[in-house]
Amino acid sequence: MPKQKLFYQCQRCGNCCKWPGEVVVTNEEIDAIAAHLGLPVETFLERYTKLRANRQGLTLIEKPNHECIFLDGIDCTINPVKPDQCRGFPNTWNFPGWQDVCEAIPVPVEQVQASK
Ligand code: SF4
Ligand code: SF4
Repeated sequence: MPKQKLFYQCQRCGNCCKWPGEVVVTNEEIDAIAAHLGLPVETFLERYTKLRANRQGLTLIEKPNHECIFLDGIDCTINPVKPDQCRGFPNTWNFPGWQDVCEAIPVPVEQVQASK
């Protein structure tokens, strides 16, 4: 029998936002987040972003404890405009050991599509 394709439904536990690492932001995402926060783009860039380690684009900065600067408890304070990288986890990308921290529930892909 072919293996069933699974989609992991996020349970908003916030654990992936506490994982150290870059949260890449595109130009469109920068504009959207700055507008959401009511900040001029330049101010947003200065306050909340830095150059990626590979110098290709920008990442959101982290708090000293390595969680994302926009995490408040377990809530994302920019949820309506959060970057694609955040939306995609853990389905479009993930990191080694992600299943130990992520509380997303696996459901068959067909079930997700049928409910849309
Ligand atoms: S932007 Fe929001 S969803 Fe993305 S890592 Fe930060 S807190 Fe999490
Ligand atoms: S760790 Fe998994 S369940 Fe928790 S917020 Fe991130 S994607 Fe959602």
